[in-house]
Amino acid sequence: MLHKIFIEVFGENIHSSQSRAKTEGVASFYLACSLPVKVLGTIIDENLEMFSPRHKNSNEPITLRVFEDGDQQFLMRSEVSNALIASSTLNKRLDSEDDKYEFHTISLEEIQKNFDTKNIEFIHYPILRAKHRANPISIPIPGKSDEFCILAIDTFFQYFKELILGVQYYQKVDGDNINAIFPALKTIFKSDCTTPYFLFIGDRGAVRRVVISFFENFGGASAKELRKVETDGFTVPFLKNELAYLGLTTTFPEILDYAEVVYAEVDKHKKESVLRTCDLFDAVEHCQLNCVLERLPELKKFVHSQKGCHRVYGFKCEDCNSENPENQEDQKLSILEKEIADLKMSYQKVLEENQQKTLENQELQQKNLRLSVKNESNEVQIKQLTEKLTHSKLAIDDGNYSIPCTSQLKIQCLICEKPIPPGHDQIIKCPMCKRRFHSKCAINWLKEHQQCPACNGELPKF
Ligand SMILES: [Zn+2]
Ligand SMILES: [Zn+2]
Ligand SMILES: [Zn+2]
Ligand SMILES: [Zn+2]
Repeated sequence: MLHKIFIEVFGENIHSSQSRAKTEGVASFYLACSLPVKVLGTIIDENLEMFSPRHKNSNEPITLRVFEDGDQQFLMRSEVSNALIASSTLNKRLDSEDDKYEFHTISLEEIQKNFDTKNIEFIHYPILRAKHRANPISIPIPGKSDEFCILAIDTFFQYFKELILGVQYYQKVDGDNINAIFPALKTIFKSDCTTPYFLFIGDRGAVRRVVISFFENFGGASAKELRKVETDGFTVPFLKNELAYLGLTTTFPEILDYAEVVYAEVDKHKKESVLRTCDLFDAVEHCQLNCVLERLPELKKFVHSQKGCHRVYGFKCEDCNSENPENQEDQKLSILEKEIADLKMSYQKVLEENQQKTLENQELQQKNLRLSVKNESNEVQIKQLTEKLTHSKLAIDDGNYSIPCTSQLKIQCLICEKPIPPGHDQIIKCPMCKRRFHSKCAINWLKEHQQCPACNGELPKF
């Protein structure tokens, strides 16, 4: 089936019968992707009259096709040009820059701004695609109703799908020749054309000419086939494993970097609950497409100017990001969000530090409390001791020089250096320093001295 479509798009001579079997094996999964091309062609044929230029002086309005693709509305320049020639009500000329196989467009906005359109009936004509395959549109050449074109961007996607999955080009090619096909391609996929344009898809189309000459030189090397996905779907590691198995990590050492973003988008676009083999084909294709576009800036520019960036899964286009104010807003928003997150983090940190400090504070307070309790009990003890001391002092003072010793402290007589036992009643106290001595010792001491042996103060005479 794919082979058939490919022939319709690119012509009959591309595949040898050998590669044909392989291609059909790969292709069986996109059976559902092809719309009834012929049926559509018939519809266009039957209604072709309305796309054809009118004769001069006709009272009927001129009809022009307005193609709609996403938010773009555009007309084929040559169709507009023919209408301008045919109509006396339109007095401006519009030159067409088409060659025989390439049909350029002009936006509806520009037509409405520059021309009197009151006698023109615009027929809206949405660009329809089944998956990535676009429905053919009749070319804007009168009398050629059986010849068709599709948008260049659709040709691009169909061509690369065939190159990647059908021909398995990047599995077979060696690193040096990886971009060998590009010089031919860039004459078809033009990076300097900022409006959409169509490409002829018949036998004489530029794509077919390039493709044939390229594949004639390419030959028929062999390549590994993707393995079937089990019924429970596949994961990012499985995809990475397949990319390596197919030998693509040799052709594109960076290809594994795209596995995650591409997988995420395939997962977003899938229709069923688990990812199946056809989703694996999509993922493998788009991983390669990313690698190819990053290596060929001119092709990347073509994809961008033909508004195809969003159709490459996981594709990062710097031009889209800088052009799209919504993206700029998104970027601003994400920067703000990051700042807020940072602030939250540092706030959290301060909170935690505070909590830590509070804990430490509490510990310190408890310690303080314990200390002050201890202090209090110490004070009580000091008070008790002081009271005791005062008491004993009073008792001693009361006893004058010869009193019973009531002190519990071990007191030494400074003269004989022997202890004065508690309750000993024969002591004498120095009135100056209050030291105590045995009465006997003191009397003997006073026989030879007049001073206290401790403080040298005058001692009383007996
Ligand atoms: Zn872009
Ligand atoms: Zn003394
Ligand atoms: Zn003594
Ligand atoms: Zn003394």
